[in-house]
Amino acid sequence: MRVGIPKESIPGETRVALIPAGAATLTKAGLQVAVESGAGLAAGFTDAAYTAQGASVVSRADALGADILLQVRAIPAANGLHPGQTVIGFADPLGAPQEIRSVAGTGVSMLSMELMPRITRAQSMDALSSMATIAGYKGVLLAANQLPRMFPMLMTAAGTVAPARVFVVGAGVAGLQAISSARRLGAKVEAYDVRPVVKEQVQSLGARFVELALESTDAEDKGGYAKAQDESFYRRQREMMLKVVAGNDVVITTALIPGKRAPILITTEMVEAMQPGSVVVDLAAERGGNCELTRPDEVVHHKGVTIIGPSNPPALVPYHASQMYSKNITTFLLHLLGKDGAKQPTLVLNQEDEITRETLLTRDGAVVHARVKELLG
Ligand code: NAD
Repeated sequence: MRVGIPKESIPGETRVALIPAGAATLTKAGLQVAVESGAGLAAGFTDAAYTAQGASVVSRADALGADILLQVRAIPAANGLHPGQTVIGFADPLGAPQEIRSVAGTGVSMLSMELMPRITRAQSMDALSSMATIAGYKGVLLAANQLPRMFPMLMTAAGTVAPARVFVVGAGVAGLQAISSARRLGAKVEAYDVRPVVKEQVQSLGARFVELALESTDAEDKGGYAKAQDESFYRRQREMMLKVVAGNDVVITTALIPGKRAPILITTEMVEAMQPGSVVVDLAAERGGNCELTRPDEVVHHKGVTIIGPSNPPALVPYHASQMYSKNITTFLLHLLGKDGAKQPTLVLNQEDEITRETLLTRDGAVVHARVKELLG
């Protein structure tokens, strides 16, 4: 069975789905790995590094002809494939379910990395978490780079430098990494999340948990994700956060609701209440942004405040983002493998298995995922 790694085709996508070490793992499992020439270059992995690990470096057409395609972005790769092929990658099934319907029409089987269930045995396949870790780290560096202040407190012969004050909104995987990265740089950090259970995690990282008299008892679903709140909740949240935002030099927002547009939590009025030179880094930019003024991938200057909304933060750290993603996707693929009569590896899409059932979007010409089917009506 051949595993193909076509080069990513979305502009600005610097990650590669499989790094050379992953190619070695798959080769050892009895798979043939065909990497499109140059697929790993933007992430720092040369063709020679892949061949040294047992992969063959091939043309795009060859890579696209493989039985299983591993991608960061699954949708563009699925166009032009034929029935019987399988594509694994990020497919945004809850954001763009109609794309999944078109994929189903081609007869291709597609598995979505973002629907990986958050259960212990799938932890090493959880690419949303690994990419959020990268985003949280990079978000802090983007802010530090833009801020006209330093992050650490310094006591020098030239006087004392006060530490930067950082407010992190949303303390999930990205937010917690942003907190610890900002703390490591010496900033004074506070954070808020709609899920009260994260308070202790925030405090254990040395940050202050901002208490808003808002906590909803129905904040979290059974998967650990935040539930959407109504508009009056968000309005009250914005009112209560105004003073906190105004008192910080940096605001890093990471608030997301699965399958929904990111909630607007930072309004123009709040940005205008910040001190000149302050910075907002909106890590929810790809999903519409948490700040009203965010324009994805643009640096917006508004009355002395800078708003940065990178739409693909992991692509700004492509080497380690690819390393982590590659580990996630190879573990997932190995999980999906069985052996045929001749003891050759074969792909087994067993929907009795929770990991397969939760991630499998299309099969035999149809959309098979319950939530995606529901969205498509
Ligand atoms: P996410 O990316 O969907 O959202 C980011 C954060 O934004 C979440 O913490 C969410 O509560 C928060 N948020 C949403 N609306 C908000 C609002 N109005 N105001 C403030 N914050 C808001 O979530 P995530 O980071 O992917 O994960 C959420 C949680 O899932 C984690 O904290 C963790 O407990 C859990 N998790 C479990 C596993 C596992 O068991 N394998 C793996 C990863 C994460």
